[in-house]
Amino acid sequence: MELQWQACNLCGADAPRLLYTIQEMSIRMCGKCGLVYVNPMPVAVNTESLYDAAYFDYYVMTAAINRRTYAGHLALIEKFALGKGRLLDVGCATGDFLDIAKSRGWEVSGVDISPAYADRIAKRLNVPITVGDFNKVHYPLESFDVVRMGDSIEHMLDPRGAVKKVFSILKPGGIGYVRTPDISHIMPRLVGKRWIQLKPFEHLYYFSRATMRRLLEEEGFYLLKMGSAGICCTLDMLRNRLEHYYNPRPLLKILDFFADTLRLGRARFYLDPLEEMQAVFQKPHHHDGLSVPEPMSCDYRKKTGC
Ligand SMILES: [Zn+2]
Repeated sequence: MELQWQACNLCGADAPRLLYTIQEMSIRMCGKCGLVYVNPMPVAVNTESLYDAAYFDYYVMTAAINRRTYAGHLALIEKFALGKGRLLDVGCATGDFLDIAKSRGWEVSGVDISPAYADRIAKRLNVPITVGDFNKVHYPLESFDVVRMGDSIEHMLDPRGAVKKVFSILKPGGIGYVRTPDISHIMPRLVGKRWIQLKPFEHLYYFSRATMRRLLEEEGFYLLKMGSAGICCTLDMLRNRLEHYYNPRPLLKILDFFADTLRLGRARFYLDPLEEMQAVFQKPHHHDGLSVPEPMSCDYRKKTGC
């Protein structure tokens, strides 16, 4: 894998300090703006080795439960959207979010860097799915009412480019949604290098709420809502997560009792692991500054007689 030293994607500074080294990859924090990113960075995303069909096995296995989480994303988006129109899912993976959005009346399209599930989704849902790097795929300007980036921006080589692109393809007043690991949240502060989201081959960028807010606002969006993002979860999923951190045997035994003896392993509940953020943002109705009529000055009124 070819790596290349990168300046900060958010502020352009070039003096990051080393935070962690994981599997010989360095994760650094920009000394100027606080953005955390893998540096040196892969020059290209190796789709074949990283995002093959096996990568999505876990999503397929947990699809029923994930769909409840995705329904929550959509409910939040619908609170702010001006109406149900065209929706693009960036990083559509196995298509479960698209399926839910379509069934709720949205006209949906998806894009994913991996071809693994693209044909299957397109056939199953009869919707357009594009395979490729979102930043390089062509979409007509101002053609979507909603663009969702659910757990995808952290995988990208150029998140600023992606947010810029979201701005250009959203209609004025359109809504964007982003969900991503939040390095300023409680869990990463508690567990440090053992944080489950530190996967430097897949996750290239680690935003905090401050760096995400800065990115969205610098690209011209109004931030409508930002907060912690939980998941719909089962005891089995909770057990896997706990094992990753501490292997707390007494607690695991209690969980096993509930999961096996009482057959609650698949019981569903909401859990906030205190490690992800979600944000809803809006493109201004008049975004270019030219279409906003300036208040008329007295001189202007005199000249035009109005
Ligand atoms: Zn920076």
